[in-house]
Amino acid sequence: MKTLQAIRGMPDTLPVDTGSWQWLERKVQDLVQSYGYQEIRMPILESTHLFARSIGEVTDIVEKEMYTFADRNGDSLTLRPEGTAGCVRAAVQHNLISTPQRLWYRGPMFRHERPQKGRLRQFQQIGLEAFGVATPDADAELIALSARLWRDLGVADAVQLQLNSIGSLEARAAYKAALVDYLSAFKGELDEDSQRRLETNPLRILDSKHARTQEFLTNAPNLHDFLDEESVNDFARLKAYLDGAKVAYTVNPRLVRGLDYYNKTVFEWVTTELGAQGTICAGGRYDGLVAQLGGKPTPGVGFAMGLERILLLLGAQGIEAPSTLPLAFGVGVGEAGERACFAGIEALRSSLPQFDIRLNTGAGSFKAQMKRADKSGAKVALIWGETEAQNNTVTLKFLRDDEPQITLANSLLAQELERISNTM
Ligand code: ATP
Ligand code: MG
Repeated sequence: MKTLQAIRGMPDTLPVDTGSWQWLERKVQDLVQSYGYQEIRMPILESTHLFARSIGEVTDIVEKEMYTFADRNGDSLTLRPEGTAGCVRAAVQHNLISTPQRLWYRGPMFRHERPQKGRLRQFQQIGLEAFGVATPDADAELIALSARLWRDLGVADAVQLQLNSIGSLEARAAYKAALVDYLSAFKGELDEDSQRRLETNPLRILDSKHARTQEFLTNAPNLHDFLDEESVNDFARLKAYLDGAKVAYTVNPRLVRGLDYYNKTVFEWVTTELGAQGTICAGGRYDGLVAQLGGKPTPGVGFAMGLERILLLLGAQGIEAPSTLPLAFGVGVGEAGERACFAGIEALRSSLPQFDIRLNTGAGSFKAQMKRADKSGAKVALIWGETEAQNNTVTLKFLRDDEPQITLANSLLAQELERISNTM
């Protein structure tokens, strides 16, 4: 029989890697909570029309990346490709849209893309959404938070912030018309994707990867010449906040993002370390989305980061999660020794809950157990044999350094281990 395999692009995360995941997730969680973000957990399945209505019918995600199927009742459901739509849906449904409201979420997202390094079909995002504040201090706070995360993780030097304003819906519509007008003259010479987008989603042509298309864009109308006054002012204020907080950025007038719901601020954190999958975090303002999904008109701004790409970047930078090795490993020899060991280790777990303390299970010779103790990485083996069991004592054998072994009363063990841990 052929061995069963996980679905392509939907990898398992193995124990050797979960330590890094937990470390990263904890760092992000601590940071976002210190900014007042509260966690919300949404379902992974939503009605298909939620995404069509929010992300946009003619975006890459909705056109070709969604996992959509009919359930047993014939309802069209979709595995969420991103978190903002579901978060807004939940916030509207449960009356959480207040001013201000800061929410964050984490979990798997699903997109039917070509799997490659940093691009998966099931991938993990952490996303933040701030509702109710129309002023650019909200955008700036989110960006400053993300900048702080890169500093906390030690990758600040490997990432750059790309920033843009795409203006109001009206400004964008006017620009779109001008862009289509300009590009139509070269239509036959644009790449195939861009030709199609000229009809469906012309702004996306701006971030075409095709050199020839990019050449035509050099003299294209500039989005910034079309921005409305309010967007121009807000963008200036956003940049001033970032300057004040010493968050460096590059204004990229071609950055438009792939989702329809953005207006004004859009941004991406990019790295050159991960090839074509260089965006580790992206977001922007979406003042129309809450109303579009049935809530009362409320501004919003948010971003999502791709955890796989951040972990790849950490790896490329040689940054590892601090390793945590057990403090002690209990070895029990002979029936009485095993029982004393079991009781002794359980007692330690009560008195020293802050430490990682392991127990040998499944018996084995003294030699085999000591081998396991060593392999566990523990600092010290706690040995209970017949003699120790009889005398209510325990023998400590140091596995990492040359100290001589000692035997002491069970009652003194917790204190001694605490002393040893301070020398680690
Ligand atoms: P890309 O241009 O790389 O396709 P995107 O603009 O589609 O990214 P967003 O929808 O903005 O991505 O998602 C936010 C972040 O989630 C991205 O910046 C990236 O870090 C991560 N991400 C998006 N799609 C994938 C994927 N298929 N696999 C892994 N991470 C992803
Ligand atoms: Mg994409």
